[in-house]
Amino acid sequence: MGLEEKAGDLGVITTSLEYAVNWSRSNAMWPMLFGLACCAIEMMSSQGANYDTSRFGMEIMRASPRQSDLMIVAGRVSRKMAPVVRRLYDQMSEPKWVLAMGDCASCGGVFNNYAVVQGVDEIVPVDVYVAGCPPRPEALIHGILTLQDKVFRTKLDGTIREREPIHV
Ligand code: SF4
Repeated sequence: MGLEEKAGDLGVITTSLEYAVNWSRSNAMWPMLFGLACCAIEMMSSQGANYDTSRFGMEIMRASPRQSDLMIVAGRVSRKMAPVVRRLYDQMSEPKWVLAMGDCASCGGVFNNYAVVQGVDEIVPVDVYVAGCPPRPEALIHGILTLQDKVFRTKLDGTIREREPIHV
């Protein structure tokens, strides 16, 4: 029996290039493997067996910015670390997205002082903010799913690209 008999009549499927590209981008995000403070522990937990972000096409955390398209800023960003975070962002290939995980990354949290960046949007554009100190893994996963939805709705021509941040 040949392949045609096994596959049956599949008919014809039509779609748009934008739909296909956004579907593939949003369902196969590769986060970058780095963490800055306590929020990173929750991020690590989200990769474990209990929460298993592999379910959403994100089992591969890349140790190289060139292979990553999602930066999860997990933890407070010190002024000393800020240029490093920006350099990592610059080394990621387009298109790329940023998720600010937790209060410290989003707005400095309780660290209202000169040594901590008062919101990582000072140095990189943020697509999704996840509140909490720390956010539980479920909250991070909710944030990532929200980002996936945002990527799915993004226009490819660049004119209507949604860059406004979302708070979850
Ligand atoms: S938000 Fe809370 S858990 Fe996260 S880095 Fe700041 S102090 Fe740590």
